[in-house]
Amino acid sequence: MKPVIVWFRQDLRLNDNPALATAAASGRPLICLYVLDDDTPGDCRWGGASRWWLHHSLTALDASLRKRGGNLVLRRGRADRIVRALVKEADAEAIVWNRCYEPFAVARDKALKEDFKADGIEAESCNASLLFEPWEIRTASGTPFRVFTPFWNAMRRNEPGRPQPAPRNLTFHPGIESDDLREWRLLPRKPDWAKGFDWTPGEDAARAALYAFVDHASGYKTARDIPGMDGTSRLSPHLHWGEIGPRQIWHAVHTRERSDGAETFLKELGWREFCCQLLFHNPSLPEHPLDARFTKFEWHRDETDFTAWSRGRTGIPIVDAGMRQLRQTGWMHNRVRMIVASFLIKHLGIHWRRGQEWFWDTLVDADLASNAANWQWVAGCGADAAPFFRIFNPVLQVEKFD
Ligand code: FAD
Repeated sequence: MKPVIVWFRQDLRLNDNPALATAAASGRPLICLYVLDDDTPGDCRWGGASRWWLHHSLTALDASLRKRGGNLVLRRGRADRIVRALVKEADAEAIVWNRCYEPFAVARDKALKEDFKADGIEAESCNASLLFEPWEIRTASGTPFRVFTPFWNAMRRNEPGRPQPAPRNLTFHPGIESDDLREWRLLPRKPDWAKGFDWTPGEDAARAALYAFVDHASGYKTARDIPGMDGTSRLSPHLHWGEIGPRQIWHAVHTRERSDGAETFLKELGWREFCCQLLFHNPSLPEHPLDARFTKFEWHRDETDFTAWSRGRTGIPIVDAGMRQLRQTGWMHNRVRMIVASFLIKHLGIHWRRGQEWFWDTLVDADLASNAANWQWVAGCGADAAPFFRIFNPVLQVEKFD
């Protein structure tokens, strides 16, 4: 039989991976592909911390596939060209992927699907990253939600689909050349950066993190607000790269734990969905304020202040602690993200996009939708945002939470 290509993107796992399951069910031999695309115009160049994560996550996925007799084929370049070329090279008759929702990915995938269909190649896409598609949860008048609470109430009335186990038997198509991951140089060139990243990327580690969290989920409602405690799940980078899917998390928490803590946690997954649907329906979210009144806001352009903020040298302890944690670990607690973001925007008067860019480069969970929507939320220019006049007082925040 001719092969089918499974194009892995932000779904670096074997369990609850509908694209992989669909391809396996077709009985065709599989080619498992990952493309590093630094060339398509748009926002697809991963930041430094993301690249560190990606290196290790691809290593883990390749190891899992090798255990089942296959491997991950790595290619680098413009994803649309690479994918078209591989279909020809391997004489594949089908390709399947899980959907991404960044504007450039939506446009690219749509064009690819049309081209493949015109050429008689089966092209199918599936949902691995969200509980509900961005077009599924709608207001009564059929428009997308712009306010979180009604979105959440509407979402909560639906039952997310159940996660599917990894397909049992996988057959692979042999002989397809792959790049050498080491030659992609995803790990940072500066040797001391990332050495404090105390993370284990990969599907096994993601599941371990989930089960470790489920045991504490009942205490999440209060613990999640205390930056000095390990009270949150730290699943965000695993979720971003799709080493675990939201259906797996939802059902693991929901079936084992019915507490206020668990419900509060599920609501955070709702925020993630909300951010994604905001980006999907407002593709300029990372560049332009959703509230157009802020377009002409006069920002300070002070490099000294920005450098002090980004290096954790403002002199405000909670801000500096957060920014240093970010630099050292690639992650920051949600409350501290809000405090440092508010400080940059509202005390220093620096454009939220500068902060968003810094986070993009330094967060291991950097995610176009969650990053942009949250920066706009703090700035007060987004959908359902904190009012623009609300300023987090970093001293009171410390008294309350630290
Ligand atoms: P938990 O508290 O355990 O929450 C579980 C999951 O829910 C998270 O893993 C995440 O996927 C989701 N979630 C929680 N809070 C939010 C939120 N406010 N918005 C969207 N999803 C949420 N999150 C990212 O994943 N990527 C980003 O690039 C990102 N940038 C942010 C920028 C700013 C300025 C702020 C204020 C928040 C940002 N967040 C971002 C949201 C949030 O801070 C992180 O998702 C959370 O801290 C991750 O830690 P956790 O996995 O332990 O979260």
